Amino acid sequence: MARALYIHWPFCLAKCPYCDFNSHVRESVDHAQWEGALLADMACEAEAAGGEPLTSVFFGGGTPSLMPPSLVSRLLESAERLWGFAPEIEITLEGNPSSVEAANYAGLAAAGVNRVSLGLQALDDETLLFLGRLHDAAEGLAALEVAQRQFERVSFDLIYARPGHTLDQWQAELSRALAFGTGHLSLYQLTIELGTRFATMVRQKEFEPLDDDASAEMFALTREMTSALGLPAYEVSNHARPGEESRHNLTYWRYQDYCGIGPGAHGRRGGIATVRHRKPENWLKSVAASGNGIAETHDLSGKEQAFEAMLMGLRLAEGVDIGSMAMRFGLPGQALCDPDKLAFYEQQGLAWCRGERIGVTEQGMPLLDALLGELVPAELVAA
Ligand code: SF4
Repeated sequence: MARALYIHWPFCLAKCPYCDFNSHVRESVDHAQWEGALLADMACEAEAAGGEPLTSVFFGGGTPSLMPPSLVSRLLESAERLWGFAPEIEITLEGNPSSVEAANYAGLAAAGVNRVSLGLQALDDETLLFLGRLHDAAEGLAALEVAQRQFERVSFDLIYARPGHTLDQWQAELSRALAFGTGHLSLYQLTIELGTRFATMVRQKEFEPLDDDASAEMFALTREMTSALGLPAYEVSNHARPGEESRHNLTYWRYQDYCGIGPGAHGRRGGIATVRHRKPENWLKSVAASGNGIAETHDLSGKEQAFEAMLMGLRLAEGVDIGSMAMRFGLPGQALCDPDKLAFYEQQGLAWCRGERIGVTEQGMPLLDALLGELVPAELVAA
């Protein structure tokens, strides 16, 4: 059984116009105050969710590569003392590929980080400027090189299906990206999220998002090219050499327990959902007042858990085991997946079923949201 710990570092140097993550820009950050508060939030979580040793730790954000390595080191020491570390623990940190942060990589590796996920996002200056990134292409690639020297495992993100993006351009960009030889790639289509600067720009007709057909073609090409080079998609947007998958993210997608600390972090432990205060200052106040940053905990019914597990699991190429999930949540198999609809979509080539295991095919993945609405019965959705 996996047990994962997520630590949220909510600060960035600037807000990217497409980003709807819980990230904030502040003139200064009191590292000593944040260290004390994160350690307290962690200790409180470990008391409620002790037990098995951790199989993964993930520093997400925000921009955790801006954290002082000494802070990362103290958080890891504390996590190990509180839970213990499983052998081969995966310790990932999300980072930006700027020269300032690259200078931090050696210290972060020495602190125990063994996997890094870099927000490269594009390989040319014009696109990086459009995406509001602070690094240029040369700086990003130099940082990637440093990361490949410093960390055992490296992944990076690219954003495709941008306004005006062509299939040929993406093919060339992805070929270059694959040649860097990392074992993992996260390849996301640009989506316009509510409340972002890009959403305002689209509303004001400053640019038009790429149309669905062109995006779908790029999605198919992405799967073809990564697969041909031995990094098939194991999730909608994530591609890895076998064995190089993000074990931490697999914990979410396989609906296993995880603890989440820091502003806005979510957790799932033994059928209980936890949510931390989202705004950094509110989270700090809560930790000062009650020793933890929890805004809300609530019990999830078997149906609610089954619904979440289906939503997560069907993102994976491996799909979900309906039999074991039905047993886990005390529900009949047909409550999780409509057998008639499954048979229909199997015939259409959009879903598959092998014994108790079901999933969405390559052709079905671009239509995942619509398929989830069809395959997962309405009673479960309404739970
Ligand atoms: S660096 Fe990452 S988290 Fe921060 S604003 Fe940009 S996309 Fe969001």
